[in-house]
Amino acid sequence: MCTKSYIFSIIIIRNIVSILNKKSSQLKQDSIHFSNSYLTLPDDFYTKIKPRIPSKPAVVNINAALAEELNLPLDYLNSVKGLDFLSGSKIVTGSDPIATVYAGHQFGHFSPQLGDGRAILLGEVIDKRNKRFDIQLKGSGRTPYSRGGDGNAALGPVLREYIVSEAMHALGIPTTRSLAAISTGDKVVRERILPGALLVRVAQSHIRIGTFEFFAARGRFNDVASLADYSIKRHFPKLKDKKDKYLGLLNTITLRQAKLIAKWMSVGFIHGVMNTDNMSISGETIDYGPCAFMDEYDPDQVYSSIDHQGRYKFSNQPKVVPWNLSRLAETMLPLIAKKPEEAVPEAQKIIETFETNYQKFFEKLMVRKIGVPFSKSKNDRKVFGHLQKFLNILKDQKADYTNSFLTLENHLTGKIIPKAYSTPDLNTQMELWLKDWISMLNHMNLDKKDVLKNLKVSNPRIIPRNHQIEKIIQKSVFNIQKGRLDFTAFENLTRVCSNPFKQHTNADKLILPPLASEKVYETFCGT
Ligand code: AMP
Ligand code: MG
Repeated sequence: MCTKSYIFSIIIIRNIVSILNKKSSQLKQDSIHFSNSYLTLPDDFYTKIKPRIPSKPAVVNINAALAEELNLPLDYLNSVKGLDFLSGSKIVTGSDPIATVYAGHQFGHFSPQLGDGRAILLGEVIDKRNKRFDIQLKGSGRTPYSRGGDGNAALGPVLREYIVSEAMHALGIPTTRSLAAISTGDKVVRERILPGALLVRVAQSHIRIGTFEFFAARGRFNDVASLADYSIKRHFPKLKDKKDKYLGLLNTITLRQAKLIAKWMSVGFIHGVMNTDNMSISGETIDYGPCAFMDEYDPDQVYSSIDHQGRYKFSNQPKVVPWNLSRLAETMLPLIAKKPEEAVPEAQKIIETFETNYQKFFEKLMVRKIGVPFSKSKNDRKVFGHLQKFLNILKDQKADYTNSFLTLENHLTGKIIPKAYSTPDLNTQMELWLKDWISMLNHMNLDKKDVLKNLKVSNPRIIPRNHQIEKIIQKSVFNIQKGRLDFTAFENLTRVCSNPFKQHTNADKLILPPLASEKVYETFCGT
């Protein structure tokens, strides 16, 4: 190449680089387009407040897949400006941070004054599919609703919420999600001093049953109506022009809850704090505190350290929801009829649909876990009865819930059951069940290939087990206390749990149920 054309090429390259640089700095400034509809509600719904600036923020993890869905460029999130945004250190253009107010029934008792005590909503964004999402910082300092709390989150509960919410999403369960976990560099005082962190949480909205209760408890039904109208516009726009739109709202929320809880029950998920302030009207799982996936199958299982009476034990979850929905219905009675008592029968009727819908969704998911499509089982009570017998055997034998379902594939194909599974003993009871199961499948004329497919798509190979989460938390806390930002173990578990139906190599340890010495008997909210 001659000197002249060489120089010419260099000039062209420089120009291209400078254009790209300009573009990328522009991108970094204008990367997030906020559109904050919650601010259209009356002032009493929130307080404007800035997040506390962390002393030494550092990225623990950024969720690249979610960033992509939300139209947030990863190069921006990974930049210094991105960290400023994710840690709440700088408020970007368009963000108008608020803490929202709510009330709630906590373990059956009404608390009239709650709210975002340790969370701040940065604003709302529109994702690639044109859906609206909240971006909220959890653990970002005190707010007017903190009461006695410090507004902080420790690293452990942040990692727990990150892993479990992303696992739930991958299992196809509606949930808030985790865009990032940030270490704050600050200390949090609990029973001991712990490293601080914050979670960047993404949700379809943060409207809770408790948000309705806050205004209803004060007799402010105009505000309840504003909230109901806002909820309809944001989540259920089809109801907008309906004559009975508030009954429609109650009905849709009830249906979504029935679907949600059926999904929780099918994977053995225990929320732990199903208070009305922790129940989102969008139908997403929200507020991962002392939640856990069950290891041994036990309908009475409770993990939460604060659930002394077992109010939110595994088998009570579908029973609690109608109670919570009744609290929601009460807030809307004056919107439905001039004389609220006249609206009771219709509201009651809607809440009663929860049970039948829940049962339908639950059966649909559960019969598929033993390989049978719902279309073949819905008129045949034998199939669900058969499933129930299987659950009874698991209960008697204290067998692992998740892995016991995985063995069915092996029984069907004659493959050896991996040692890691630790499942029911092949005693007479179980052998009889398997024999009956095979003859039932034959009797129904089901194609073996279809049965296998049903088993594969409805039985996760991996769930985030409590003892693994605890190990990861301990490792991460230890590393951070030694000044090391090493979250490899956390990333590894998050990665496999984000693909739960896949056969992962070298993941035996994560699939194994806990040894007696590893069992976690209690989980904590970490507040
Ligand atoms: P939760 O049990 O996590 O659903 O929280 C119940 C209420 O307590 C909510 O209003 C929270 O905002 C508030 N809260 C929980 N932990 C803290 C904390 N560390 N600081 C301030 N408020 C908190
Ligand atoms: Mg909560």
